[in-house]
Amino acid sequence: MNFLSLIEAKREGRPLAPEQIQEFIREFTAGNIPDYQMAAMLMAIHFRGLDASDTTVLTLAMRDSGEVLKFHKDPRPLVDKHSTGGIGDKVSLPLAPLLACLGFRVPMISGRGLGITGGTLDKLDSIPGFQTQMPVEKIIAQVQKIGCVMCGQTDTMVPADKKLYALRDASGTVPSIPLITASILSKKLAESLDALILDVKFGCAAFMQSEPEARKLAQAMVALGNACGTNTRAILTDMNTPLGHAAGNWLEVKESVDCLENQGPADLRDLVLECAAHLLEQTNKSETLFTARKLAENCLNSGEPRRKWHEMLVAQGADMNAFNRKLSLESSAAVVVELKSEESGYVVKCDARIIGEVIRDLGGGRLSQAAAINYDVGIDQIAKPGGRVEKSDVLCRVHAGSQPETTTAIARLKSAFGISARPPAEIPLIAEIISSAT
Ligand code: URA
Repeated sequence: MNFLSLIEAKREGRPLAPEQIQEFIREFTAGNIPDYQMAAMLMAIHFRGLDASDTTVLTLAMRDSGEVLKFHKDPRPLVDKHSTGGIGDKVSLPLAPLLACLGFRVPMISGRGLGITGGTLDKLDSIPGFQTQMPVEKIIAQVQKIGCVMCGQTDTMVPADKKLYALRDASGTVPSIPLITASILSKKLAESLDALILDVKFGCAAFMQSEPEARKLAQAMVALGNACGTNTRAILTDMNTPLGHAAGNWLEVKESVDCLENQGPADLRDLVLECAAHLLEQTNKSETLFTARKLAENCLNSGEPRRKWHEMLVAQGADMNAFNRKLSLESSAAVVVELKSEESGYVVKCDARIIGEVIRDLGGGRLSQAAAINYDVGIDQIAKPGGRVEKSDVLCRVHAGSQPETTTAIARLKSAFGISARPPAEIPLIAEIISSAT
């Protein structure tokens, strides 16, 4: 193919034919297009954009660049959730077993964190022995048998995205709505889902910081998911403040278990139930969102999802004695230090970006895909906006690898919190539900 002429066409804003998009994705995946030319194409797309139909063609071509999960016919709908990422966002962990208990099949294929936002796979890797790399046949067998799996993408799934994402990262072309949409949805569509719920975050610690930008991304993904035959909805949620009271890989697993034991934070529980309720309604398992919420709540309250979580961990090789021992510890990090409030009042600010940056710099996140991370560092007992604190009450605790690191972390965390005599206006966690592009 004459790829240069396609780059030039896109640069000039001329349309590409569907067959041309399909061909260049096939050729790039096969190694027949050099990175420098594809980087030029990505930059042209970044500036010229892609319309909805070209984005659909690109997404499906990327999905079909590798293996697609093929499940047996089964009355249990196939569903999943994707979050654009935030601090303390551990929703997937309690959600997968809850959905399995609600009669869904959940092939939850997740990614690693990059920068300040955590990744589900990193959280799961903090569980002793838990295997997140599984071949396609094993993923399918586990979903059929116990209803859920949480694992990483295999080498054979959506290879085009793996190559394109690395190139976008290196060429400054990540923040393009059609490219993000195609990247996220090509992976989700490779799971052969009946329904998908997207948690699109906005705020200081989100990928899309402004609410209008997050809405645009959500609308694009919802339109594309539905156009490709997967019932897709998005929840727009606030990510100026961390979700729950704990952030950091292992600390988030611990808080997820609390949620499954009905002792977790209210905002985490609400978002888990909201995602489950939408999927129940999207798949016609519930007639209304109201009945769906009740169903999800009763299921979580029953303790069944906690048992399902255990079943999933055993199925994926976790060392349950080591896991339970670790759960019983106050901290698995070398040092724990408290940040105390210097005054009495209401918490009016709890900056998720600062908290995320501190955790990343403690070793809990990575600056490059290949970097190693410390699963046990993080921040917990986080005081949230609206909460009342007295002088010397704990604003948060830092779990670190060494004492000197806590000193720097505590100094930076002071600026994450704001205390005032008056309580702040309540900000809803969920700003909007998007079920169509309008
Ligand atoms: N996450 C993805 O998987 N792809 C993107 O392009 C951005 C976030």
